[in-house]
Amino acid sequence: MNMNDIILKKRTGAELSKPEIQFFIDGYTNGEIPDYQASALLMAIMFQKLSMEETVCLTEAMKSSGDIVDLSAIHGVKVDKHSTGGVGDKTTLVVGPIAAACGVPIAKMSGRGLGFTGGTVDKMESIPGMKTTMESDAFMKQVNEIGLAVIGQTGHIAPADKKLYALRDVTATIDNLSLISASIMSKKLAAGADAILLDVKCGSGAFMKTRADAVALAEMMVSIGNLSGKRTVAAVTDMSQPLGLAVGNALEVMEAIHTLKGEGPADITKLSLELAGIMVYLGRKADSPEHGKLLAKEAMNNGAALDKFAQFVAYQGGNPKIVEDEKLFPEAKYRFDLKASESGYIGSIDANVIGLASQHTGAGRTVIGEQIDMSAGIVLRKKVGDEVREGEVLASLQGNMESKAKLGLDECKKAFIIQKNPPELKDLIQDIIGLSLLDTN
Ligand code: URA
Repeated sequence: MNMNDIILKKRTGAELSKPEIQFFIDGYTNGEIPDYQASALLMAIMFQKLSMEETVCLTEAMKSSGDIVDLSAIHGVKVDKHSTGGVGDKTTLVVGPIAAACGVPIAKMSGRGLGFTGGTVDKMESIPGMKTTMESDAFMKQVNEIGLAVIGQTGHIAPADKKLYALRDVTATIDNLSLISASIMSKKLAAGADAILLDVKCGSGAFMKTRADAVALAEMMVSIGNLSGKRTVAAVTDMSQPLGLAVGNALEVMEAIHTLKGEGPADITKLSLELAGIMVYLGRKADSPEHGKLLAKEAMNNGAALDKFAQFVAYQGGNPKIVEDEKLFPEAKYRFDLKASESGYIGSIDANVIGLASQHTGAGRTVIGEQIDMSAGIVLRKKVGDEVREGEVLASLQGNMESKAKLGLDECKKAFIIQKNPPELKDLIQDIIGLSLLDTN
């Protein structure tokens, strides 16, 4: 077998065999296949596409390129949740404690921020003392004791994806459904949970800009999950404006706490309860997603989910008093308001631009390994559809570097469109894929 023949085969539109895909992934991961041949194959895939069978083979080969986490020491049905990435998406910090309070063990590995999107691990580190690394034994023990642990990716999960993702990023080969599905699902399948809930974001602040593309991606990932023996469901959710009001690390954790108290913004509350309901169902603690949602609401209303969050913070070395005292979070020195230049209705708030503006304030990295300003970010004062008067505050920007906060303010101005008439509002939850495919026993 040689790489040149494999590239040619795909270039002419033929289907690659399982051994050919395995040969490519093994050779690229161990460095025998150079970047230029891998890039050529990726570009051929962009034009000729992969069949479902090829996509499954690619996912399996990428999953097996590194460690497969064994969570069997944890009792119960382990449910993982994954968001394809968005702006202001702090749902893991809300649904994790809710699902755990409903008896579903959550043993989760999360990522750091990527480009204009935030990451759960960075957000958690805004809590004073909070640790996001742990030995495997301690991780399992924590989940068995309190039902919830969230850490950064450990060990050697899907190294083929790590290399391929970096290559795709610089060869204009990101936006192919099979490549995205294989990238996400190889990591999820290697992470060891029994069931998977995917939150596929759709809109300007997401990889998938249209509902049709997001649904196609969700369907493909659900099929891959089910074929691999994992009960898998995907929600397609709107990311045309940021989720909630807060964007930035400490700000988002504070908003997650408000939400757990039942005082959060309507959109993040609705999405969290919907996702938590499905997770409780996937974890076999409810008869249906609707029943799961009722249990999730109960855990939010009776304080059990908030208590679980405080317990989780304490177990991971953080100060649990943060749930009652926001002054314990890092505080920003500088604050600037963005004011409306005219009256009307908020027609749109570009999530992508808000993500970039937040990054400019210091809430995200612009180079690898950069220190994040945990206090930095944006609080939206208006959402799409709200009426606004000239001079009213649209958003407040904050951070510890005056120049950065001002840079964020300049970027943020580009995000808001004010129009004369109220806009048509998009549904937050656009589709749920895969529920009907689940076994009912
Ligand atoms: N997230 C991933 O992990 N991989 C992709 O290809 C796109 C989003």
